[in-house]
Amino acid sequence: MEIPDHPLEVLWDITYACPLRCTHCYSESGRRPARRLSGADMLRAADAILALGAEGVCLAGGEPLLVPELFAVAERFTAAGVPVSLFTSGWTLDRASAEAAVGAFSAVSVSLDGATAEVHDRIRGRRGSFDRAVAALGLLTEGGGATVGVDYVVMRSNAPQVEEFLTTVAPRFPGLGQVSFGAVVPEGLASRAGFAEHELLSEEQVRLLGSAEYGRRLQELAPPGVRVTTTDNLALQMRPDLIGAGVCLPVLQIEPDGAVRAMAAYEGTVGNVLTDPPAELWRRAVARWHDPFVRETLAPVRTMREWAEATRAIDLRFGTEADRQRIARRPAFVPRG
Ligand code: SF4
Repeated sequence: MEIPDHPLEVLWDITYACPLRCTHCYSESGRRPARRLSGADMLRAADAILALGAEGVCLAGGEPLLVPELFAVAERFTAAGVPVSLFTSGWTLDRASAEAAVGAFSAVSVSLDGATAEVHDRIRGRRGSFDRAVAALGLLTEGGGATVGVDYVVMRSNAPQVEEFLTTVAPRFPGLGQVSFGAVVPEGLASRAGFAEHELLSEEQVRLLGSAEYGRRLQELAPPGVRVTTTDNLALQMRPDLIGAGVCLPVLQIEPDGAVRAMAAYEGTVGNVLTDPPAELWRRAVARWHDPFVRETLAPVRTMREWAEATRAIDLRFGTEADRQRIARRPAFVPRG
């Protein structure tokens, strides 16, 4: 694969603060310091991200709507002609912030991980989170502006509700533009051995999510006007043979304080947008993809459980001492029932 000389997309987790406590949280938000920059430094970081040359920026977290400067940051990207999208749980969204969001972002995605409150709230770790996400979708889809979508992280306990979501929840929002179903990735809390055993998808489920035929079937179930996408998320694995075959994402993930991850789903940073030249950050990131330890650890991975094991090894190898201490403190995953 020809690797581009700059990231095609940047994902900025703009804060690690979050009101929810999801079982699979990739960033362990709400359980660690927010590491949020000052307003002035956020704008400096936005300018530095623009200098990376990405064609799109996605603001996620944590809960980005907890960041007062969020809309000023979004405006910085938009003014430079770079589309910027938002991922939110919807927990804090009110009418005013909904109107601001559809005006400031080109796309807004609300996380909904089930067709019922019982399933979604259990995954999201707070009672009422389904109702709030649904209310947020209602507000966001009332007017025009951004494309409003749903991001559904598929794991074993909510996989049976995928079709039901399209037939019972999606039709409630006439302005809904997109529903994305993505296999849960063994990153952060989702890389824990207990989560891997109980919630990572089986190989058959992963294959299904990656198949065009299943995507077509889901599209037929969706209400008119709603575009359905599905992904097995293998492009995040960074296995050497997959990179060679072009199955990888030329994306840079930025932590709240501007630290740049070498690989989106793994711990390990290669500098900071506030201090390091953009081209050098990308060069270091791509070098990490080809690091001998990374290649040897990922090359034999075939199953989701093996991927989780490899993630844990890479996180310990390249994470900071603070990362290692946080990983050691992770609570054991408690399966439902
Ligand atoms: S809403 Fe997102 S950031 Fe917050 S705990 Fe859940 S997965 Fe993590």
